[in-house]
Amino acid sequence: MFLRRFLGVVFLLLLCSGARAAPADPLKTLLVAILTNAPSAWVDCEGGFDVKELQSGKVLRFKEAVKISPESQVFRLPVRVTSRVKGRFLTVNTLRYRGALIIRKASKGGVHVIDDIELDDYVKGILPREAGAGWPSEALKSQAVASRTFALRSLGRHASEGYDLCSTVHCQVFGGLESEDERTNRAVADTHNEILLYKGNPAGTFFFSNCGGRTLDPVDVWERSENVPYLRSIRCDFCRSAPHHFWENTVSAEDIAAALIRARIVVVPPLKSIRVSAGNVLIRYGTGQVKLRAARFRAMLGANIIRSAHIDKVKRSGGGFVFSGRGWGHGVGMCQEGAKGKAEKGAGYAKILKFYYPGAKLEKF
Ligand SMILES: [Zn+2]
Ligand SMILES: [Zn+2]
Repeated sequence: MFLRRFLGVVFLLLLCSGARAAPADPLKTLLVAILTNAPSAWVDCEGGFDVKELQSGKVLRFKEAVKISPESQVFRLPVRVTSRVKGRFLTVNTLRYRGALIIRKASKGGVHVIDDIELDDYVKGILPREAGAGWPSEALKSQAVASRTFALRSLGRHASEGYDLCSTVHCQVFGGLESEDERTNRAVADTHNEILLYKGNPAGTFFFSNCGGRTLDPVDVWERSENVPYLRSIRCDFCRSAPHHFWENTVSAEDIAAALIRARIVVVPPLKSIRVSAGNVLIRYGTGQVKLRAARFRAMLGANIIRSAHIDKVKRSGGGFVFSGRGWGHGVGMCQEGAKGKAEKGAGYAKILKFYYPGAKLEKF
């Protein structure tokens, strides 16, 4: 249900890098890759569609599905595909997408199929993956603003490949029209073009499932990141009764030793004990001990195993260790289940955003 934003390295890059688009940019559409390096793609549209060769300007008209591949004899790539009837959507391998399509040869072979789509139409295609469509509307609106801002800040991440954003967890999971829901679409429309700005640029609106009671400072989670006022650690009392507040997982001593070795930390088995205190994990082994930040330990063992850096307890159990803690996700920015809890208590989306991103300004793009 949630976009699992666990690829910390990627996000610290985002945190440090500036955005392509300043809010005053006359940005009309984004280029979102639907398929990358695909051998071919079937394109169709009820009511017909036009395929325009971008180099020659030649336009071909089609009434039936056409297969597009680098070997096509019918037209030369790159092409731009548009629906001929307003309100009818193009399909790629039978799935519907809003906007136009750009199809170009990929440098590593095959084609990239790229959706040339308006910002809010893009947000409609990602929002149901970020939050439950049945959540209170104010929580959905705060997620719409966070996701929209995050998209703007991420523009140009794939510029060298000929598009802005991919449609996987690396950017945000985008499912086109098929993944849309009326309720999340309404949250997008109700916050039309609203984003969060900090010092005139789109803010780094990170989010995650559940904070376990307190969000975290970026520097405590990602190496080489820096703290910004709107991402400072805050106490959150609104996610306590949510499904992802507590977690527990057992990991074998061998798996822990293997993870340490993969991270080039030399340990001599056997692992004797593991303790946690003040955001650190202390591991005692055969001939010594090693101390790691909990967030680093989490990244080493796997973000779905150690679900958060809030590790409360470690117990020995047979040949392994039982870890238990609070929260799910990296912990920086908006606690999504907290936003839901705040909305249930009557907070509006502007208030929710102000709480999780203090000092960032809500404005129309
Ligand atoms: Zn990406
Ligand atoms: Zn929370």
